[in-house]
Amino acid sequence: MRIIKAQIIKAVAGDFSVRTNSGETFTLKGRGKLKTDKLLVGDMIEFDKGEMVIEKLLPRKNQLIRPPVANVDQALIVVAPIPKPDFLLIDKLIIKFILSNIKPIIVINKLDLCAMGFLSSLVDQYGSICEIILFSALEPKTTQVVLNPVLSEKFSILVGQSAVGKTSIINSLLDTELEVGEMSKIGRGKNTTRHSEIFVLSNGGLIADTPGFSALDLEFSPGDILDCYLEFKPYLNKCRFDNCNHIKESESDCLVKQAVKNGDINKDRYERFVALFNLAKEKEKK
Ligand code: GDP
Ligand code: ZN
Repeated sequence: MRIIKAQIIKAVAGDFSVRTNSGETFTLKGRGKLKTDKLLVGDMIEFDKGEMVIEKLLPRKNQLIRPPVANVDQALIVVAPIPKPDFLLIDKLIIKFILSNIKPIIVINKLDLCAMGFLSSLVDQYGSICEIILFSALEPKTTQVVLNPVLSEKFSILVGQSAVGKTSIINSLLDTELEVGEMSKIGRGKNTTRHSEIFVLSNGGLIADTPGFSALDLEFSPGDILDCYLEFKPYLNKCRFDNCNHIKESESDCLVKQAVKNGDINKDRYERFVALFNLAKEKEKK
């Protein structure tokens, strides 16, 4: 028996395409005792090369419901000048991804329409906590130069408001891939009205569009909210009171508040933190 570790990149009617670390691909069956309907694209598995069957599902680092995938590495949060960004949604998505062990990356699309003020506002708000990528789905070169390297060997999902350009980004990837002649379209999510697709890129990347997250997916405890405001980290545990919430305490007692005042923490981000945190506290009381 020769056991090999691989990742599922496609699942169709009980057949699983998997890819090993070295880039080899195989088509496998599940084993009877392994509930194959529980296997997801993205799952790490072990298979027996003699029998070509999946023997074992390895622990997941995360799992999404829509699309049903596992082991997502990074989430590309797409924003654009038009439609205007919903910054509260961006903040919530960042919290969600940090908690799910998924790296958030902000992709500013429609670079051709971006004013300098728009770019600098995003950098002010997110530059210290997130990688930011500038992109235009209308300019194929930015796909090749900027996006492809980020996607290489990673499992990425695309999220963002409608009309920011998620479909255009997928199409721009398809176009550049088609030039190389390697694109394959796989794994339509079953039982979903708004179907989601997962694409295998020739650089080893997997990418899936998501139909978005429901409000329920984006509810957090006050503690989680605080933990995921990464720009607060350098100031935590230094406030006068150990249980400082960085909201009602006076500025002289709270280092987070002082950092906001000095401009070391972005004021807009802080104000949305206060709103989110207070709302979560209210919910907790009920
Ligand atoms: P989705 O709803 O997020 O999938 O957004 P779409 O991909 O459907 O794009 C919405 C609109 O934005 C379409 O009319 C696209 O042509 C346009 N669009 C996408 N990317 C760009 C870009 O980089 N620059 C400009 N000017 N328009 C873009
Ligand atoms: Zn404080």
